[in-house]
Amino acid sequence: MSLPEKGRDIEDVLAEIGRLREDDLPVRGGQVTAYVYDTGRPEVHEAAARAYFEMLEVNTLDPTAFPSVVEMERQVVGAVAGLLGGGHGVFTSGGTESIMLAVKAARDSRPVPGRPRLVLPVTAHPAFHKAAHYLGVAVDAVPVDPVTFRTSPAAVEAAITPDTVLVVASAPSYPQGVVDPITEIAATAAARGVLCHVDACVGGWLLPWLREAGAQVPPFDMSVPGVTSLSCDLHKFGYAPKGASVVLFADPALRRAAYFASASWPGYTIINATVQSSKSAGPLGGAWATMQALGRDGYLELGRTTLAAARRLREGVAAIDGLRVFGDPDSALVAFGPDDPGGQDAPDVFVMADEARRRGWFLQPQLSYAGIPANLHVTVTGVTLRGVEAMLEVIAESAAAARRRGPVELPEGLVELVAGLDLDTLDDAAFAELAAAVGADLRGGSGQPEMAVVNAVLDALPADRREAVLVRFLSVLYSSTAPA
Ligand SMILES: *Cc1c(COP(=O)(O)O)cnc(C)c1O
Repeated sequence: MSLPEKGRDIEDVLAEIGRLREDDLPVRGGQVTAYVYDTGRPEVHEAAARAYFEMLEVNTLDPTAFPSVVEMERQVVGAVAGLLGGGHGVFTSGGTESIMLAVKAARDSRPVPGRPRLVLPVTAHPAFHKAAHYLGVAVDAVPVDPVTFRTSPAAVEAAITPDTVLVVASAPSYPQGVVDPITEIAATAAARGVLCHVDACVGGWLLPWLREAGAQVPPFDMSVPGVTSLSCDLHKFGYAPKGASVVLFADPALRRAAYFASASWPGYTIINATVQSSKSAGPLGGAWATMQALGRDGYLELGRTTLAAARRLREGVAAIDGLRVFGDPDSALVAFGPDDPGGQDAPDVFVMADEARRRGWFLQPQLSYAGIPANLHVTVTGVTLRGVEAMLEVIAESAAAARRRGPVELPEGLVELVAGLDLDTLDDAAFAELAAAVGADLRGGSGQPEMAVVNAVLDALPADRREAVLVRFLSVLYSSTAPA
C-alpha cells in the first residue's frame, strides 16, 4: 500500500478491512482451537468491545491525569488477587509482559554473586526464555516425566545454584495442560531462599472455576507457601479482548522491583509499572467490562461447559483407533497424537492438521521437543461443548486420511541442507526462493496453506536451527521484495 493522496471514506476503509480479513481464521465459533477464546455468548464480547472503545484514547501513561485507570486497575487486579490467594498486582498487556516483570522483579530484588539464573521445566512457556534473553538472565531447564509431563521437585532442587534468582512452575503448562507439583516446588525454592513464580497465564482464570465445577485441581495459587509471584492472563480464560493480563507479587517490595522510574532527562518524569509506557486503556476497559458482564456465575457456568467439553474430548480422542491423549491434563488443554509415533500405521500429525484445516477446523501442531513426540493441541473454551462431537468426527476423519496419505515425504537431503545452511550469507529473497523450491509458500498465500512439509522440516531440526529458520521466515513474510 501507499498512503492515499486524499483521505478516504470510512465505509470504504471498513469494507477494505473486511476484504483483508477474508482469509483469516474465524475468531468465533470454536473451530479454531488456539489463539482465540470464545464464550459462545456474543453479547459478552460486544460489551467488552464497547468498553474498550470507550477507554481507547485514554493513556495509562499518567494515572494522575486519568483516575479511571487507577480505579479500574485496582478492581481488575483485586478480582484476580481475590480469586488466586492474594497479592499485589500489575495489569499488563499479556502473559509475556507479566512474565517479563516477574523475572525483572526477581533479578532486581535478589542480587547474586554471578550472572542471575532462572530454573524452569522444559515445558515452561518461551516467554521465560524471552524474558531471560532481554534481561541478561541465564536459563537452566529441567526435564519433565515422559508419562505425566510434570517436572519433579528433585530435578528443580538439583538445578538451583547460588545464582538462581527464580524458580518457575506452570499451572498448567500449555503443551500438555498439566499442573506441575506447585506445593513441593515452591517449598523447595523457599528452603533454598529462592523466589518462585507460578505461570498461571492460561490456568489462573480457569482452574478455580473448573475446581468449583467438580474437577480435581491441586493447590497452585498465591496461598501456597513459597509462591512469590503469579501470572494470570485475562485475555485467555478471562475471555477479555487481547492485551489483558495480571501479574501478582507476594509483597509490595517485590512489586516495586518490577516498576521502573526515570528522571534522567529534561522531559516529563517517567514512572512505569509495565514495559510499555504510553498505552491505550482500551484493554483495561475491555477486561473490566468482561468481568462485569460475566460475573461469578457467568464464569462458573463457562467452567462447567468447558470441563464437560474437555472430558468428552479426552474420552473421544482416546477412543479413536491409534490416537492417545498425552498425560492426564488437569485443565482444558488437550494434546494428542499417535499411540505409536513413527510406527507403520501411525497417522502423521502434521498431515492430520492440514486435513482438519481442509475440513474447516484449526488444530494446533506442536513440534517434538525434549523427547516428547510431535502432537496436536486443542484449547477447549466455553463454546467448544456445542461442537465437540463435530470436532471428534473431524479428528477421526483426519487421522484416517493421514493414514491413507502416509507421512510427509521430504526430498532426500533437504533437512541436512536446511540444517547446514549458512543463513548469514543468504538474503531474504534467496531464502524465499529456496523455500518455494521445496513447495513452501512463505508469502502466506491464501486460503488453506499446506503446512505439513514446513512442519516436518522444522520438526527434524534441532531447536536452535528451528529458531534461525523461523526468524528468516518472519523476515521474508514482512519483506516487500520477496516473490509474491
Ligand atoms: C499464553 C501463555 C503465556 C504467554 O502469554 P501471551 O499472552 O501470549 O504473551 C505464558 N504462559 C502460558 C502457560 C501461556 O499459556
